[in-house]
Amino acid sequence: MIPEKVKKILKKQQYRIVGEKGHSAVQICRWTKNSIRDEGVCYKEKFYGIKSHRCCQMTPAVMWCPNKCLHCWRAIELTLGDKLAEKAKEKLDSPKEIIDGCIKAQKKLLEGFKIKPETKHKTVSKANMKKWLEAQEPMQFAISLSGEPTLYPMIGGLIKELRKRGKTSFLVSNGLYPEKIKELAEKKQLPTQLYISVNTPNKKLYKGFHRSSKKDAWERLNKSLEIISKIKGQNEGRKTRTVFRMNLIKDLNMEDKMILEYANLIKKAKPMFIELKGYMSVGFARQRLGYERMPDYNEMIDFAKKLEKQLQKMKLDYKILDKHEHSRAIVLGKNKKDLKIKSY
Ligand code: SF4
Repeated sequence: MIPEKVKKILKKQQYRIVGEKGHSAVQICRWTKNSIRDEGVCYKEKFYGIKSHRCCQMTPAVMWCPNKCLHCWRAIELTLGDKLAEKAKEKLDSPKEIIDGCIKAQKKLLEGFKIKPETKHKTVSKANMKKWLEAQEPMQFAISLSGEPTLYPMIGGLIKELRKRGKTSFLVSNGLYPEKIKELAEKKQLPTQLYISVNTPNKKLYKGFHRSSKKDAWERLNKSLEIISKIKGQNEGRKTRTVFRMNLIKDLNMEDKMILEYANLIKKAKPMFIELKGYMSVGFARQRLGYERMPDYNEMIDFAKKLEKQLQKMKLDYKILDKHEHSRAIVLGKNKKDLKIKSY
């Protein structure tokens, strides 16, 4: 399914293609490595309580996405469009094959961390072996590695299988397939945490920023925001938490004049949380946007406070609940006690 040239690039980036049909992949997150070495955890562990060292960063649609977002660190110039959704089931790996394949590949990728007292060679690994042992069984699946995961037709089945195995799942979507989000809600196959990425306040900026193959991309995104507004939160008996996620880039999508438009989109989506993440100049994004567009922590805090003020002016009682300075990440919500994931 994936051209050899692209497979080579992915392999070089430490991706491992999993499954027989080869449309899924896993890559060890740097925070998983950091945590195994007791060198810090990711902001999602700090905010929501998932365990970075037991996290599997994966995707069932590694090279399929309708967008070419400016800030994306993946090789989006090589993506294969969005036709994965039209492939017949037998042409795709099943949820079980993908999950088993990810766990097997993750174990292999973490082999190098193992401290082998039996070998006479001085080991270089600084791994916390208790964490390394726990990491052999990932309990959190971050369905966000690359591509648009809702293009995988059996995404609901994959989430359901993860729930059955007692694992949490974070699904990060660009919101361009509202019918799929609706289907997940109707079939009660929603993830532990459902992210919709919103990186522009209006249609005009959306076009230049996302360079989508979908002419009605902005309308599709807004439809998805309406759909998640109706998804009940964790403290209303449902086990799904919705997140309005913004990736902020200096001098591009975080100007004061844009705050009211973002606030209106948040009003439409009524998310449980709003996550602000500072753009990272890594991977292929470096060539497109460079370093100088990375907002520093104070600029992120400044934007978060202005957004908080605007939302409260609109009687939407969101407030800053937590921050992660290293990742320049900030989360807003209604109540700090809602932050930690209580049930799987
Ligand atoms: S939740 Fe995200 S940042 Fe945290 S360890 Fe998993 S992939 Fe990495």
